[in-house]
Amino acid sequence: MAEQGAKSLGPKVGLTTTIPVEVVLAAGLVPVDLNNLFIGNLLAYQQVSQAEAEGLPRTICAWVKGIYATLMAHPEITGVIVSCQGDCSYSQALGEILAAMGLSVIHFKYPYPKDRQELRREIAKFRARLGVSAEEVAKVHRLLQPVRQALSHLDRLTWETGQVRGRENFQFLIASSDFGSDPVAYYQKLTAFLQEAQTRPHRHPPVRLGIIGIPPIFLDLWDYLEELPAEVVFNEMPRQFSMPYPFGNLVEQYLAYTYPYEITGRLADIKAAIQERRLDGLIHYTQSFCFRQMFDQMFREKLALPILTIEGDRPTVLDSRTRMRLEAFIDVLRP
Ligand code: SF4
Repeated sequence: MAEQGAKSLGPKVGLTTTIPVEVVLAAGLVPVDLNNLFIGNLLAYQQVSQAEAEGLPRTICAWVKGIYATLMAHPEITGVIVSCQGDCSYSQALGEILAAMGLSVIHFKYPYPKDRQELRREIAKFRARLGVSAEEVAKVHRLLQPVRQALSHLDRLTWETGQVRGRENFQFLIASSDFGSDPVAYYQKLTAFLQEAQTRPHRHPPVRLGIIGIPPIFLDLWDYLEELPAEVVFNEMPRQFSMPYPFGNLVEQYLAYTYPYEITGRLADIKAAIQERRLDGLIHYTQSFCFRQMFDQMFREKLALPILTIEGDRPTVLDSRTRMRLEAFIDVLRP
């Protein structure tokens, strides 16, 4: 798709999904994950309605409407990086709408099916578009390694010792798509958190859960599960966003990332987590109007563990029906 956009790029650049953020940082730009900015807004629910009032259909995913409204509320973000393959067709269409509105839209395409050479070419194209060399990107990749290692450590403290709670795990890992727009400050916050968490007593939750699927739009899911009591010791997608792989180069790192490619990669990752983290059950979160709901059947066929599928639409607290279903599920799993 041709790039358009009357506005110049930067310094803040919106991300509609996880892309090679190392390239953005190497270009001296400030990455802003628009999903995180949207869901972190106390007015997130109203933003979805606002996007509908401006013409986006009720029958599309709320994340897309949230991103749209967030960009309207943040005119200082003049450019957006859109994954036009490997994310979803809604974001592809959103990119076209934003370009027509004058934003600078840059496309990044994950190869489908997964292909090393194709990915290498896409990253090189992305680098060229942002005007950075392979060496500059490699330097940022090296600088981020301690941050990614610290995130792996945090994840381990979640499932191995229980010193990190499911919600804390989610919040740090989900923010790793753009490192809170400031990797240095993010790393300082992360290391301070880890120092404190390591002094906590070990916890042994009676029910150990994994949440699979796209990041839940519910605001209180983890807290409610803790009340039941059950602990989330595997947040599939946020963990993927943190790229917990000790790879020496960017291509291998983004090739191991499961989200944009075939479902087989996700299945292998989830199966490994079930074993390693001794999961008792899985919650499959699905988003209303999202094509990824179709994978539910495959998860049920391929994963030998009880699965509860829940669906959310707008950014709000759990509805009473979902609460009751979660409660009944935990009752069944409780030893
Ligand atoms: S939840 Fe599904 S439909 Fe919505 S943006 Fe993500 S992939 Fe697309």
